[in-house]
Amino acid sequence: MVTDVNGFHMAFYVAAFLVSLTIFIYTFIQKRTDKDQNVAFILMLFIIIVNSLSEVVIETLIPRASDSGGIVTAEKVLSFFYFVSHIAMPPLFLYYECCVTGVIKRLTDLRAIVALVPLFVTELMLVLNLSLRFVYYYDENGKFQRTWGMGVIYAVSISYLLCALFHLLINWKAITMKKKLALIYFFSVVILGVIIQLIFKEIRTELFAEAIAFIGVMLTIETEDNRIDLETGVYNRRALHMDLENIWAFKSSIDLICIKITDMDAVLKGSGTNRTKKLMNDISEFLKTVIQRFYIYNVDTGQFVIVISRDEGDDKRKLIKKILAKYEPECTTDEIIQKIQDRFSEPWNVGRVQATLNSVILKAKCPEELKTVDDVFYLLNSPVPKKIEKKLLEGKDLDYILRRTAVEQAILRAIDTNEFEVYYQPTYYLTGFKLHGAEALLRLHDSELGNVFPDEFIPVVEQMGLIDDVDDFVLKQVCEFIKTGIPEKAGMDCINVNLSVSQCMRDGFVERMNSIVESYDIPKSMINFEITESVAADDYDKLRKVIDELKTAGFKFSMDDYGTGYSNVQSSFSLDYDSIKIDKSILWGAEKSQKGKTILTNSVNMIKQMDKEIVVEGVETDAQIDMLKELPVDYLQGYYFSKPIPRDELIKKIRGES
Ligand code: C2E
Ligand code: CA
Ligand code: CA
Repeated sequence: MVTDVNGFHMAFYVAAFLVSLTIFIYTFIQKRTDKDQNVAFILMLFIIIVNSLSEVVIETLIPRASDSGGIVTAEKVLSFFYFVSHIAMPPLFLYYECCVTGVIKRLTDLRAIVALVPLFVTELMLVLNLSLRFVYYYDENGKFQRTWGMGVIYAVSISYLLCALFHLLINWKAITMKKKLALIYFFSVVILGVIIQLIFKEIRTELFAEAIAFIGVMLTIETEDNRIDLETGVYNRRALHMDLENIWAFKSSIDLICIKITDMDAVLKGSGTNRTKKLMNDISEFLKTVIQRFYIYNVDTGQFVIVISRDEGDDKRKLIKKILAKYEPECTTDEIIQKIQDRFSEPWNVGRVQATLNSVILKAKCPEELKTVDDVFYLLNSPVPKKIEKKLLEGKDLDYILRRTAVEQAILRAIDTNEFEVYYQPTYYLTGFKLHGAEALLRLHDSELGNVFPDEFIPVVEQMGLIDDVDDFVLKQVCEFIKTGIPEKAGMDCINVNLSVSQCMRDGFVERMNSIVESYDIPKSMINFEITESVAADDYDKLRKVIDELKTAGFKFSMDDYGTGYSNVQSSFSLDYDSIKIDKSILWGAEKSQKGKTILTNSVNMIKQMDKEIVVEGVETDAQIDMLKELPVDYLQGYYFSKPIPRDELIKKIRGES
């Protein structure tokens, strides 16, 4: 006698099958299967798919069972495999959760084995049940019946889930809110599904609830859409931030490798964005041949990071290390660095040409050398100082970062408490050594670092975005000084104020300078701005416009650091400078060799032919004065006359008191 298939049961199983199959396929399409965590996820899905499928088959077989002994046997075999595979779900989920929270990296072999014992016991129970029937059996009508052993199996499964929940709670801080919610939602739905099925045997919600709950996990935990850089297929900056937060929350140890391409600006200019993207892609592809993609982050154009775990956990985790071997880097940190350096010594396809890239590799142990996540991003954000010429920076080489952090803090303190002070270094006429003017030079006296010099702190101020405030401060101090009338009375032509080109280019710069000086009601011609050019030629039009506007308003202008490579001959012709300041290195070079002397002489003659005044800085000795007297130079500045001094000292000097 054939009865109808139980459509109500069937609906749940078919739904569970379709949902889990869909998640499975999506996970595959997205190729998220290269981490151990993803593999565990796929395995769980696979179990649900197979289980729901076998339930579908069982449900179709049941009505025919009374007709054939073969069908009864098939049903029993399927049920057996259902239980054997399904009880692996909770421990698998515990493992999955340990991967997500990162606990797995610190798990010892002993703990792992202890955690597996209940699973083995229940599996053994199922095998023994084949003859002992203490878990379930089929009664004389062929109906499925549970016995006390099933209670034990449920208890073990629930213990695994509770254990996972407990882990989640103690590692609460290690994962993001979204992941927490997804995991808690997962627990709730699965437990609800199990309870409903336990109470109402006809409502087969268990598998269906698991499948549904996995959707949430797929969408929040297994998705990496916002972590992956679409261009390069490796992780992005945001992912690095999240992962580092996690690493610090767990007090894990890592080796951090940062690859910085130092001539990225030139590459971008020369080959445009699209070709640069292609280059970044090529570099990522190469890095993927060195290490799996989930260790690689593309944090910026021309900047890659590789994070390698150092949680060896010594002898207590040999077994786990073996299991995870596929997911651990095959090479040591130094071998990886060597491979990267070897590749970077060869050319890359940059646009249409082949070119070698200038690169620096930074290697840091965290948390020993970089103590916080902020320190890491500091390292990533700050340019490598030009004076460091090594290709691999590690250990003590990275101290510049610490010093920078200290300088940054000193700057913030100085802005708060007015520890900045403007010093003045006087300039003199070459003929008669009469006082001509002075250059305002900023000083930072810090309670912790002592005196910090502008060569060090000005670039930091610029990067902190505070240069406007600092320069306004200098300009106001200078205006105040001029307002006292002392400089004018002493016969000073003007006071020089340093500006960086990047500031001049900013919107509203001209208006700001005008309004500050106007508020002091002093002649603008008493202010002479000095600028050091470091811009590319295509910005000259803008710079020219700014200079013209300020000159029309009445200010004076000089070009600073002539001869250092920043300033060039072409711009000294094309921009309307009143005077050119020849850099101290040219003067000092002139003393050392005949060639140096020719450079100084030719520079001076050329500038004079352009009809501009000449200042020479860095004058320290009588010999230099004698040399300069031969040349058509107008003004001198240097330690020979005076170092930069505080305003009061300058006033004393002017009055002849010192
Ligand atoms: P700079 O404009 O080229 O300033 C000249 C530097 O040479 C000053 O260093 C000065 O102390 C030093 N110097 C002058 N005469 C001699 C000499 O005879 N021998 C030697 N060995 N050195 C001499 P300082 O004050 O350390 O300033 C360094 C740089 O910092 C300046 O170079 C300027 O580019 C920048 N800077 C200083 N103050 C300011 C400021 O208020 N704003 C901006 N944007 N930059 C500033
Ligand atoms: Ca200067
Ligand atoms: Ca200079």
